[in-house]
Amino acid sequence: MLNRTPEPEGHCASYYAATVNSESNYPTLEGDHSVDVCVVGGGFSGVSCALTLAERGFKVALVEANKIGWGASGRNGGQLIGGMSGSPEFRRQFGEDGEKLLWSIHYRGNEIVEERVAKYGIDCDLKRGWISVANKPSHMKHIEDDFKAHEKHGLGSDMELLDREALSKVLATDAYHGGLVYGRNGHLHPLNLCIGEANAASNLGVAIFEGSPVTAIEHGEKPVVSTARGRVTADTVILAGGAYHLLSQDRLNGLLFPTGSYIVATEPLGELADEINPRDLAVCDTNLILDYYRLSADKRMLYGGRCNYSNREPRDIAGSIRPRMAQVFPQLSGKKIDYAWGGKIGIIINRVPAIGRLEPNVFYLQGYSGHGVNFAHVASEIVADAVAGTMERFDVFERVKHVRIPTTRWLGNQLLALGMSYYRLRDLMS
Ligand SMILES: Cc1cc2nc3c(=O)[nH]c(=O)nc-3n(C[C@H](O)[C@H](O)[C@H](O)COP(=O)(O)OP(=O)(O)OC[C@H]3O[C@@H](n4cnc5c(N)ncnc54)[C@H](O)[C@@H]3O)c2cc1C
Repeated sequence: MLNRTPEPEGHCASYYAATVNSESNYPTLEGDHSVDVCVVGGGFSGVSCALTLAERGFKVALVEANKIGWGASGRNGGQLIGGMSGSPEFRRQFGEDGEKLLWSIHYRGNEIVEERVAKYGIDCDLKRGWISVANKPSHMKHIEDDFKAHEKHGLGSDMELLDREALSKVLATDAYHGGLVYGRNGHLHPLNLCIGEANAASNLGVAIFEGSPVTAIEHGEKPVVSTARGRVTADTVILAGGAYHLLSQDRLNGLLFPTGSYIVATEPLGELADEINPRDLAVCDTNLILDYYRLSADKRMLYGGRCNYSNREPRDIAGSIRPRMAQVFPQLSGKKIDYAWGGKIGIIINRVPAIGRLEPNVFYLQGYSGHGVNFAHVASEIVADAVAGTMERFDVFERVKHVRIPTTRWLGNQLLALGMSYYRLRDLMS
């Protein structure tokens, strides 16, 4: 149970909130309701669970503390990147079977997103094309290895390995030593996707409630989810509060650490945008503490990165990101920054997403370690399958051995910050 009921908030002042197709406007939860499945949290994890279950005929309620897409799902870099964070650890724990499972779900989230955008007519600026760029010559090895792995699994056809010279025709910067274009990855307007998926779920009968922080869950044969003014009784509850989740900390403490990531949006760049990034690719560099950026549909540069692992808000987001952006693209030095915002990423110590159960009928999915646009959709399909009785993939994720730091979140974040300083040092020295 939460000690105090948090006040519902509107979307943060981001480029996405300023360009939303149509703001969601669902009622607050009042009175008693009874459903098959109650989902807590209206980000990609929760909305996608609700939509998948509604498509399969379940009666579903979704309860969101603030607005649909209020958390990381409505604030992120919008990069749709296949794969799962923590894959090396997952392979270590599950060997060849784990490897097979990983490749079978590698692009599943991208497929789900593309299918839904087409099926429900969601206008979210979805575009294919993403590139991983090497900050150091030594980083090309990792890039080449990933290309070979894709080829081995029959997924290399729409990829392009670029040396430094070829890369200079794709991105107008000399900051990198080469790169790999992934044709199956891409980028999108995440808030418009999240609201679009929620509207599709609502049209299929999901009862969505906004401005309704869940303050308690009573466990039992029919768990009950309570807010200040209402209750939902369900056969199954799914906890999808991401890095903002504070419920059941007696059981989930020490597993996920919320860390900040920050983005700026410049003024529209017009023709300069096409000169800088003529193929309109989303970009991630290969540093352990990485920068990520892309162009918006109206040709702004959305540039993000530099997690703040100690969980302290930077005083001046634009002031801290602008020099990094100008280092890569001096052409942007004098450009105005129209929006600057941040959100919380859920970091798991071994980076493998935490998908499990508190009780046989209370599931949770969280912690994609900054890689959730794709993977929240995969995880939600795995959980929806489990709710419907198909347990194979869920069982594997439930068996993942996670490292827990049994401490307060504050202390955990300080330890994480210390660990990340080490990685920052490695980025500088490698
Ligand atoms: C700045 C930033 C940039 C990122 N960039 C990328 C990117 O480019 N590509 C990528 O793949 N990933 C990216 N990520 C990560 C990605 O956004 C997340 O992994 C993903 O959105 C997590 O989705 P979620 O639904 O689990 O959590 P969230 O989207 O955070 O949603 C959780 C929701 O649960 C609600 N909630 C919490 N507690 C309660 C409660 N008690 N009652 C009711 N509701 C509750 C919250 O209000 C929130 O709306 C980024 C994250 C950030 C912050």
